[in-house]
Amino acid sequence: MTITHNLGFPRIGADRELKKALEAYWHGDIDQQALLDTGRQLRRQHWLRQHQAGLDLIPTGDFAWYDQVLTLSATVGNIPARHRQGATAADSTARDNCCGGTAPNVTEFSSEPCADIDLDTLFRAARGRAPTGQATSASEMTKWFDTNYHYLVPEFHAGQHFALSWTQIIEETREAVALGYQAKPVIIGPLTYLWLGKEKGAGFDRLDLLENLLPAYEQLLDALAQTGAQWVQIDEPILVLDLPDRWRQAFEGVYHRLQHSGIKTLLATYFGALGDNLSTAVNLPVAGLHVDGVRGSAQLLHVVDRLPGHKVLSVGAINGRNIWRNDLDASLAQLRPLHERLGERLWVAPSCSLLHSPVDLEREQKLPSDIKHWLAFATQKVGEVVALGRLLNDPQDAQAQQPLAQSRAAVVGRRESARIHNPEVKARCERITPTLAQRQSPFSERIRQQQALLQLPLYPTTTIGSFPQTPAIRQARRGFKQGQLNEAEYTQRMRQEIADAIARQERIGLDVLVHGEAERNDMVEYFGEQLDGYAFTQYGWVQSYGSRCVKPPIIFGDVSRPKAMTVNWTRYAQSLTKKPVKGMLTGPITMLFWSFVRDDQPLADTANQIALALRDEVLDLEAAGIKVIQIDEPAIREGLPLREQERAHYLDWAVNAFRLSAAGVQDETQIHTHMCYSEFNDIIEAIAQLDADVITIETSRSQGDLLEAFESFKYPNHIGPGVYDIHSPNVPEVDAMVSIMARAARELPAEHLWVNPDCGLKTRQWPETEAALVNMVKAAQTLRERVTEGVAG
Ligand code: GLN
Ligand code: ZN
Repeated sequence: MTITHNLGFPRIGADRELKKALEAYWHGDIDQQALLDTGRQLRRQHWLRQHQAGLDLIPTGDFAWYDQVLTLSATVGNIPARHRQGATAADSTARDNCCGGTAPNVTEFSSEPCADIDLDTLFRAARGRAPTGQATSASEMTKWFDTNYHYLVPEFHAGQHFALSWTQIIEETREAVALGYQAKPVIIGPLTYLWLGKEKGAGFDRLDLLENLLPAYEQLLDALAQTGAQWVQIDEPILVLDLPDRWRQAFEGVYHRLQHSGIKTLLATYFGALGDNLSTAVNLPVAGLHVDGVRGSAQLLHVVDRLPGHKVLSVGAINGRNIWRNDLDASLAQLRPLHERLGERLWVAPSCSLLHSPVDLEREQKLPSDIKHWLAFATQKVGEVVALGRLLNDPQDAQAQQPLAQSRAAVVGRRESARIHNPEVKARCERITPTLAQRQSPFSERIRQQQALLQLPLYPTTTIGSFPQTPAIRQARRGFKQGQLNEAEYTQRMRQEIADAIARQERIGLDVLVHGEAERNDMVEYFGEQLDGYAFTQYGWVQSYGSRCVKPPIIFGDVSRPKAMTVNWTRYAQSLTKKPVKGMLTGPITMLFWSFVRDDQPLADTANQIALALRDEVLDLEAAGIKVIQIDEPAIREGLPLREQERAHYLDWAVNAFRLSAAGVQDETQIHTHMCYSEFNDIIEAIAQLDADVITIETSRSQGDLLEAFESFKYPNHIGPGVYDIHSPNVPEVDAMVSIMARAARELPAEHLWVNPDCGLKTRQWPETEAALVNMVKAAQTLRERVTEGVAG
């Protein structure tokens, strides 16, 4: 019989129960017991759901109160002193860690967790505060590989020790075993764990901590072996990355050390093919290897060729990263040859943890029925894994016939649906030529014409687009959606907001104004709702971090724009002022990566379709008299492939899609773009190739460090380094903003520089926003005066 298993189930709950309980607990509305109960119920529901679907091995350890990397940090005792229970302000600089720091010689597993780690410790590490203990600075958070999930970055110190200090995974595995499930605990492997963290303090390499870390893993494996679980899944997704030799070479020693007589190890890799790490991965002394059969389908036969004869190969045949129903025939065609060679040594699973999919499609009431039929969320994906296992054993398996028939119907439906395929859009994409992505003149000529038209002062000031989304604005949008406000009333309300935003900006003295984005709930959803080819779910939530979830739209078909999306609002705003109003759009790459994307054509094709729809909008704005148009691309770095070798190709098509959206305008129309939340250093050339006339970027949180890339690259076009952090309600000082700009002016020509906040202002309130912008305008004036007085930066 083919064993089926799962690498992890979404923990947040079909109704975001965990989110709600966490937030209620943090706000003091429920006590810790109530939170613990919610967690236990969710785990039970998720195990039951997977078991009832017919899955053989049920993952445990996939539940986390905030983040699985943070859970592991607690497990191995790696919690910074400033987050520990009873931590005082003085501890926050101490470098000792929990038990790892104080009891390096613990070898015996004790069921008592480390005394100074408790649930609130995790929340202090994650959020900087918890219902008990001192507030302090949270751990850094960053993206989990190329997903939209964010983990808490482990902090490492020279010479630190680790020991088993938090027994959540062990207790939850016991819980599952006691309920009669074949539990398979899931932990992150030691090399991936070290890789994901950061050294605090100079003069050491975190890989040197490996020797100290392994005893904690040995204790953990001892304890897991005693739970009754037969398999442990150890995740080492860094095996799909370009690894430095030292890291690759460390694998063998580590897994020799971690061999355990009481529990078998399935080493899991995902998010890509093993590539040059293949021979390392197949030869490790473990009982089984899991590989990503979706992104790494081409490697499967090589893996089987090289796999030692006793090992299990788990193939991740169901895509854990999107929401499409699997083509079971295609997966069977992939798996059958492997099954013939491996027999029962072949296991079937999703490609990665289902953490990255929404929970249950069945809850969706509003999706058109054909679209719904094409989809599978986590619950349905588990069903697909089981169906594949059954069909491998017996093509006539009675229980698998219905899913097989449904899968076939979905494949045919998607191939033929008029809802998906729009011949006009396809024909237009085929007509794309390189000149379409090319502005008429080079930047030097364009900027001359733009300056003649716009007549802006040196150090022009602007904002990034959105203004405070007041309760009144949200209420009006809700009222319109629910039918309490008719279209005329709603338009009237939004026009009032626009007029108010324009009046405030004129009073403040900004140079390039915006309409304020009052009508937008979200920068992707707003456009997606007006484009053909996009669908929206009611409950398709995916955890982004902690209690934060996102509900990405679904791009299911050819994208086109039935009618203008932003022109009326922008034109109205422009009618109220003599100053230029900047049109505001979300770029094609951000529209793509903040959505679930169709898998039946290359991403680049979908990007081009969106780009052409946006291009029409850009041209309509220009025709309506808008002289400055901003195309936001905060997500441009998110699509960057994990492997170096694939990056150039990605950047090529991504840059091209942006240019396609922008390049239709006349020379005198000024194109802006905006980026935030990423380090740009390694893609700075691609950013320059976007050829936007002006780019505004987030720089203030790193005291201008991110600017460095633009400076050393001698960024050719104009640039607005964000002069203050919009995430804080603090009103920035004039001097601080002047010095950020002065720094930029040392490396870049002053005539290239703009003055602006580092992102949109929608999460702020008006009083601090106005005060901040008044100071920002003062800073620009100071900078201008310095230039006229001949003072160097
Ligand atoms: N124009 C958008 C805004 O101001 C940009 C948001 C973003 O960069 N994430 O809200
Ligand atoms: Zn931003």
